[in-house]
Amino acid sequence: MRYCPSCEEEYRDGVAECPECRTSTLTESEFAQRMEAAGRRPLDEPAFVIAGQADNAFQADLLAAELGAADIPVILHANRRGPLETATEPSNYVALRVPAEHLIHARELLAAAKERLFAEESEAEKAAEEEELASEGAAPRTS
Ligand SMILES: [Zn+2]
Repeated sequence: MRYCPSCEEEYRDGVAECPECRTSTLTESEFAQRMEAAGRRPLDEPAFVIAGQADNAFQADLLAAELGAADIPVILHANRRGPLETATEPSNYVALRVPAEHLIHARELLAAAKERLFAEESEAEKAAEEEELASEGAAPRTS
């Protein structure tokens, strides 16, 4: 197995570069050393990997509930943006971490949930606009 030190994702042997972030992958022992040096849990414990990101705690709670409903354990990890960004953009974001074996399912759930929960408003607006356009347009042809 190969590991991305940045995303902490696990990849097949032969994957030299993380497809997510383009960082060179590490062997298992290199990665384990890196994690231990950073004071992180060793590899034999269930690793929680980042499945998605929420813009704020409110969104994170909603998304965590979606994962919980699917029996996927989730760890919320609040991050503060870097010092430069903090000056202009003080908001935190929240990483959602799930056990690696649930990663693919969790990503699907999160993508669907984000669309449903956070795109609802703009979708509704779009639908209303389309309706308006349709009613403003030429009289509908009946056949
Ligand atoms: Zn990566």
